[in-house]
Amino acid sequence: IDSRLPQVGTTIFTVMSRLAQECGAINLSQGFPDFNADDMLFERVAYWMRAGFNQYAPLAGVPPLREAIAHKVAALYGTTYDAETEITVTAGATQALFTAVAALVHPGDEVIVFEPVYDSYAPAIELQGGRVVRLQLAAPDYRPDWDAVAAAITPRTRMIMINSPHNPTATVWSADDLAWLAALTRGTGIVVVSDEVYEHIVFDGTRHESCARDAELAARSVIVSSFGKTYHITGWKVGYVVAPRELMAEFRKVHQFNVFTVNTPVQLALADYMADASRHEGLAAFYQAKRDFFRAALGGSRFELLPSAGTYFQLVRYRAICDEPDTAFVERLTRDTGVAAIPVSAFFADGRDERVIRFCFAKNEATLAAACERLCRV
Ligand code: PMP
Ligand code: GLN
Repeated sequence: IDSRLPQVGTTIFTVMSRLAQECGAINLSQGFPDFNADDMLFERVAYWMRAGFNQYAPLAGVPPLREAIAHKVAALYGTTYDAETEITVTAGATQALFTAVAALVHPGDEVIVFEPVYDSYAPAIELQGGRVVRLQLAAPDYRPDWDAVAAAITPRTRMIMINSPHNPTATVWSADDLAWLAALTRGTGIVVVSDEVYEHIVFDGTRHESCARDAELAARSVIVSSFGKTYHITGWKVGYVVAPRELMAEFRKVHQFNVFTVNTPVQLALADYMADASRHEGLAAFYQAKRDFFRAALGGSRFELLPSAGTYFQLVRYRAICDEPDTAFVERLTRDTGVAAIPVSAFFADGRDERVIRFCFAKNEATLAAACERLCRV
């Protein structure tokens, strides 16, 4: 086969979840909750199904959900997006990111990403004939180097893809970072694709710096979010994109032939559920308690905890335990210790291995306690 993606194998999340299952290990690898979502969501889906809302939704999504998204974004970040022309509901953030790249990147265009980078970005760019320009974030603080960004921008730069709160490093960009991004893209044709799927999971009183907080930056940004993270429903695969009208028009040209539209009763249920803002407002405290529990329980272990300022991930170093490559170490941890994790080298194109692994703490306390009990014996 003449592969379009010769370097790509199976995503690390599938690989590690499969190994965890095979070994009967506690799965702290792939990011998803092990607790259920709110019953009300299920009731609302059943309600809309029984009420006969089982045919195609409009291609941009059902109007009440787009209106609820517009309301939330305006209330939190101050930019008002037109529900009719500037908001589209997608089949999760993955489809949103892929579609944004397909709609906006021409062959030969350069797209700047920050490594470690979420594993779907580069293949999406490469499939469009784009060139991935990788800038490095280094352990332990993983801050962007804005001089390096400035130096990486060329007349061919079409897009910069950012992600804060960041998977896998659990860092959160500051207002200063966003100001740099705004300054460096001002007056250029660069589109910012901002992956904000963890927008509601920011800890210690810090606020999420959305590109939608700055009207000027928002005017050249495509912002992506996911209901999977916010409402504990990763398996429903529903997310959304907000962008100014001209960018959204291009996005929809591709979206209509990619998925056309997404699940109708689920969208209507989400619109009902979003009416109560306390649901997303409470998420940061909910996950901060889990982060604190997990970190405290690992306190007696030989793992070295890096900061976790947002997301539901915790990075750890294991240099006090061994100097194995991270992929070998997580495999051994899964098989012998019974706890699965993600090797951070999977987020680097060249497999750069800083001997750091990622745990997901979106789990019941009992799960976290059992995992930490095992991890403290390593
Ligand atoms: N971007 C990031 C940074 C993610 O962590 C994830 C999911 N873990 C996604 C995108 C994909 O989100 P979805 O499941 O809604 O496709
Ligand atoms: N984004 C999730 C993670 O980082 C996984 C999603 C997936 O498996 N594609 O673990």
